[in-house]
Amino acid sequence: MWDNILGHTRQKEFLERYLAAQERPHALLFVGAEGLGKKQLALAFAKALLCASHTGSDHCEACRLMNLEDGNLSHPDFLLVQREQDEKTGRYKDISKEQVADLISKSAFAPVMSTTKVCIIEDVDRMSLVAANSFLKLLEEPPVGWVMVLLATDENKLLSTIMSRVVCLRFQPVQVEQVQSFLEAKGVKPAQAEVLARISEGSVGAALGLAEQNAWELRQQAVAFLEALPLNMPLNYLAGRVWQQKNFERPESLLFVKMLQLLVRDLIMCRLNLEHRIYNCDLQGELLELARAWQLAALKAALQHIQEAYTALENSVGVRLVLEAMALKIDQAYKE
Ligand SMILES: [Zn+2]
Repeated sequence: MWDNILGHTRQKEFLERYLAAQERPHALLFVGAEGLGKKQLALAFAKALLCASHTGSDHCEACRLMNLEDGNLSHPDFLLVQREQDEKTGRYKDISKEQVADLISKSAFAPVMSTTKVCIIEDVDRMSLVAANSFLKLLEEPPVGWVMVLLATDENKLLSTIMSRVVCLRFQPVQVEQVQSFLEAKGVKPAQAEVLARISEGSVGAALGLAEQNAWELRQQAVAFLEALPLNMPLNYLAGRVWQQKNFERPESLLFVKMLQLLVRDLIMCRLNLEHRIYNCDLQGELLELARAWQLAALKAALQHIQEAYTALENSVGVRLVLEAMALKIDQAYKE
C-alpha cells in the first residue's frame, strides 16, 4: 500500500490498523519535519480509505480517481486544503478563514461515492488565528463520515484545543543509510548519495530535491569560494566565478548559500575535533585543512552572515546585492 514510501514503519502499522478498525478517530495529525513523506503517506492513506476494498490496489473505480502517480486526484469524496500563493509576491499565505469557511460549507454534504469523505489539510500550523478558531468548531462537531488528516511541521504552533481533538502521529527522520540506498536506487552516484543523505538529515524529499537541483556543482563552487579566502578583491572573485554561471538566479543562490552554510558548519565541527559529525564526509581532508586557517569565533561570525544572507534571499532582496555583501563579510571575518 505504501511500500514505496521510505521508513515510518510504526506510523504505517497504525494506519493499517485504522483501516481495519470499526471505531475510528475522525482526525489524525501527522507532524514532523519537511520532506519526511508525511504528505505522500497521507495521500496513500486517503486512497486506501476511499477504496472499495480499503487496499488502494487500483482495482476499483475509486482508486482510478485517486491517481497518486500523476497527481490527478479527482475522487469526489476527496478534499485537499493547501496554503495559497500570493499573486504579487509569490509567497505562500497562511490558510485563511475563507478557506476554512469553504470547508465548513462542504461539510454539510455526505460522501457521494465512498463510505467516507477524506480531507487532507496541509500546513495546519500555518493557519490564521481566526481560521484556526473556526476550524476548531469543525473538529468539535465532526461531519458524519468524514476523516481529516492534518499535516504540520511544528506542533507548538497549533492551538492546544486543536491538539486535544486529534490523534497525533509524530514522524522522525529516516536513517541516513536508508536515504542513501534510496538515492542510489534512483541512480545517484554512491559518493554523492552519502553526502546528500547526510545533508538532508533523513528527509527523503530534501535529499531528492538536492539530487535534482544540481546541488553537487553548487557545493563545489562553495568549496572553491572558501578555498579562495582571503580574497584580494571579493567582488572580482564573484564576478569571475559566480556571475559567469548561466542562470545564477534566486533558486541557485539559495542552494549555493545553503551549501556554504553546511560547509562552514562542518568547519566548526572540525575545529571542535568532531570531524566524525561532518556532513560533507567526502571532503574531510580538505575541510580539516581549511579549518586550521580559521578562528572558531570567525567561523561562527561567518555562519551568522550566511544565515542572514539566506533569510534576505528568501525575502526577495536582490541576489547580487546579498551575495556580494555576504562575501565581503565572510572575507572580513576570515581576516580578523
Ligand atoms: Zn480500490
